[in-house]
Amino acid sequence: MKKLFAVLGYPIGHSMSPIMLNDVLASYEMDAHYHPFKVSPDELGTAVRGLKAIGIKGFNVTIPHKSAIIPFLDGVDELAMSIGAVNTVVNDNGKLIGYNTDGYGFIKGLDPYITSFSDKKILVIGAGGAARAIYFTMAKLKPLAIDITNRTVSKAEELIEACPFESNSKSLSLEEAAANLNEYDVVIQTTMIGMYPKISEVPISLSNLNAQALVCDIIYNPLETQFLKEAQQKGATVQNGVEMFVYQGALAFEKWTGIFPDVNRMRENVLQQLGGAKC
Ligand code: NAP
Repeated sequence: MKKLFAVLGYPIGHSMSPIMLNDVLASYEMDAHYHPFKVSPDELGTAVRGLKAIGIKGFNVTIPHKSAIIPFLDGVDELAMSIGAVNTVVNDNGKLIGYNTDGYGFIKGLDPYITSFSDKKILVIGAGGAARAIYFTMAKLKPLAIDITNRTVSKAEELIEACPFESNSKSLSLEEAAANLNEYDVVIQTTMIGMYPKISEVPISLSNLNAQALVCDIIYNPLETQFLKEAQQKGATVQNGVEMFVYQGALAFEKWTGIFPDVNRMRENVLQQLGGAKC
């Protein structure tokens, strides 16, 4: 019988996951389908019970359901619980278990550049949902330091206080971070500043950027944000948000099937959907 996978969101039409993951399922000749379901917040519990009743193998969860889904699951792994958000659900013998692959997805994307975090000083720009997943997951890997800068500094402070893993972290205003930017080996932009249609904006000035730094922007529309453009002009190595997107999907696929899929194929698929070249 055909296995069912899905993504639940509201809206859901923009999601690139169905085309990316149906292509991967087909490439492994699996008798399976990945379907997007538009589920309103009011119907989330009913939808989850329905998917469980029909024996879904697994599903992704996207905006606005990543936190709201937790009470409807049978279990949530420790990291996802501490982040307070689930993006991947696995049907484990009839029990729906929630995970968060966003943080590890981001970190997997850094494999070509970073083998150990123990000597790395990291700056996270932003303190929203994506920053939380990245910060908590990275803190587990014990970098030399991992600081957070945010427009609302109190939210950066809250994130540091809420992190269940010991970390050498401080919160900074955007101005302080810009002034001290040359201290950082890795800079991770997680706000929506620079996202289409306001593509000329940057969250902080890069004038003090270390030319040896790795600069990541988790935005993928546009593929090259103004932030990455300026970082590249400063000589830094840059990475856009496609890697995080591809790897969070690859880690979800692995949880459902036991197979770590061909990420090159997935990346090509996503780039085709975005209609551009790799940054
Ligand atoms: P979120 O929870 O709403 O957080 C938004 C963040 O952006 C906050 O830190 C907020 O600061 C900051 N911000 C918003 N408007 C700002 C402004 N005008 N000036 C300065 N800072 C501003 O959003 P999220 O879910 O973390 O998503 C953030 C971005 O990540 C989005 O662009 C999303 O598409 C992208 N994303 C990418 C992936 C991927 O796979 N590549 C995955 C998840 C998310 P305040 O706290 O001061 O409001």
